[in-house]
Amino acid sequence: MFSSVLFRRLFLPYLMLIVGATAAVGILGARRLRESYLESRRQGLRDDARLISETIAPLLAEPATREAMAVDAAPLEAAASANLQKRAGQLGETLKCRVTIIRADGKVLADNEADPAGMELHDQRPEIVEARDHGDGAAVRRSATLNVDLLYVAHRAIIRGQTCYVRLAVPLGDLNESLRVLYWGLIASGGAAIAGSGLIAFFVARRSTRPMVELTRFADDLSKADLSKVQFQPSGLTEDWGEVGTLSTALNKMARSLSGMIAQINKDRAELLTILASMSEGVIATDNEQRILLVNEAAGTLLGFEPSAAIGKWLYEVVLNDKILKSAAEAQRAAERRQFQVGPVQARHLEVTITTFPSSGPAEGLIVVTHDTTQSVRYQELRKEFVANVSHELRTPLTVIKGFVETLQDGALADPERAARYLGTIERHTNQLTNLVNDLLEISKLESQPDVPRRSSVDLGQTLRRAVELLTPAAQARQQTLVVQAPAHLPHVVGNTDYLDRAINNLIDNAIKYTPEGGRVSASARFEDDQVIVEVSDNGLGIPEEDLPRIFERFYRVDRSRSREMGGTGLGLSIVKHIAQSHGGSIDVTSTVGEGSTFRLSFPAKPTL
Ligand code: ADP
Repeated sequence: MFSSVLFRRLFLPYLMLIVGATAAVGILGARRLRESYLESRRQGLRDDARLISETIAPLLAEPATREAMAVDAAPLEAAASANLQKRAGQLGETLKCRVTIIRADGKVLADNEADPAGMELHDQRPEIVEARDHGDGAAVRRSATLNVDLLYVAHRAIIRGQTCYVRLAVPLGDLNESLRVLYWGLIASGGAAIAGSGLIAFFVARRSTRPMVELTRFADDLSKADLSKVQFQPSGLTEDWGEVGTLSTALNKMARSLSGMIAQINKDRAELLTILASMSEGVIATDNEQRILLVNEAAGTLLGFEPSAAIGKWLYEVVLNDKILKSAAEAQRAAERRQFQVGPVQARHLEVTITTFPSSGPAEGLIVVTHDTTQSVRYQELRKEFVANVSHELRTPLTVIKGFVETLQDGALADPERAARYLGTIERHTNQLTNLVNDLLEISKLESQPDVPRRSSVDLGQTLRRAVELLTPAAQARQQTLVVQAPAHLPHVVGNTDYLDRAINNLIDNAIKYTPEGGRVSASARFEDDQVIVEVSDNGLGIPEEDLPRIFERFYRVDRSRSREMGGTGLGLSIVKHIAQSHGGSIDVTSTVGEGSTFRLSFPAKPTL
């Protein structure tokens, strides 16, 4: 409170004013007091002097009479002087003052405090001079005779034609003593007045500054604290505060509306952050100097930085790709949108869109949105690869067919033996083409239907027996033993019968194809760990270890010419894998070159109710 500048500005001038006014009044009052005291003392002495002049008249009359009678005046005058001296002594005793009787020529006739004989002429004393002119005279000065400050009052008396002066004097020391008592009274009452009015000024100043001090504290709180929790609580009634009270009400209103606005901004920001966090696209917002204002998790994942530590850093500190940085600078310079592909960044392909937004600085702020296109780039690559593979697979049989047809046209038809051989080759390649087209159609069908259609409860044991029955002739043609082993009551799986038939047929067909004549192929089904497992084993060629991870890829074949010879397309195992996965199952293989292979399909068993 006391340190408040406002308080000091109000209180100190008040205080100075009070002290100044009291001091001025005091000094003036003291002067006036002295004046009036002197005046009244003067007046009193003057009256006394008049009275004395009348009482001493008889004492002065005698020498005048003798003089008139031409009698030797000296002895008479000495006697009168002694009487006068005596009288002066009595009067001085009574009036407690110095009494001097002076003749018109200045000679001192009597004095109660000094011997008149030794005194000089007093006709030039200021009070005597004044009395001579005006009847009465007064002066304050140091007495040459007594050597003290005295107040002199003289009265001119004309007694029977003879002029003389009665002069009374009082020491000023007494007067000053009386005045000092009065002055102390004045100082004490002045001090009391200063203290009283200073106290009033203090309370007035405090009362006037308290609202401002409280409001200042409140404004300070506003700037520091949560606005919703800060409300101005005045220590008194704000109605008494006048305009300041209105200001405090306005401030309270302002705090409430600001807190509402801030709450709304916080809510909007939280929504924005939630939206950003849930986006799969990476978003980075920077200010006009490319300092990061906002990032989401996805941006950190796609561009390889820690999002929580990125706020406030420069864009180049977190984004390490030059193309993105260059385009960001260009976009900012031109205030234009930029969209481009970049990759691989962190082993990903990204589509980057950079937009600018107006900011307070000279340049624009930036929003960098990164979209992961790795998958679609991969798909495009796969599609290209697929088209190239299909073209290649089609070209070979078509070239063979075309070649043999031309040979036949060129005359080979006339040679029945050659013609029959050539037509056999044409048929084999036509079958190859047919197989290829069928497998392609199958793949396309599988891919176009991500969910397995026409689901039913399937007994894989039966599927296995059906497949074995279907392919037994093929195995017999190669003098192979084909055996099946499946429990009669195998738990069912949920799936599409046609697809599951196809998968198991493919595996048994492959086992027959890649097992030399006289070999053995066995197919079995069992239930294990909630899974129905189908195994197809052979003791055929086996698959080299390095090829094992790739045999499920489309068109991948260990021995291309052997596969073709057997009418293979290189698509069979990829179809099996696709079917297994779409049924929630999996496929794996173990194989040893020259010893044989085992393909294992597993499907989740149908849950029992
Ligand atoms: P294909 O139509 O050529 O049989 P698949 O996709 O069915 O194509 O098989 C891919 C390749 O895996 C085959 O070319 C073959 O080299 C190898 N393969 C598949 N099954 C077996 C097996 N049981 N024994 C040895 N190799 C096999």
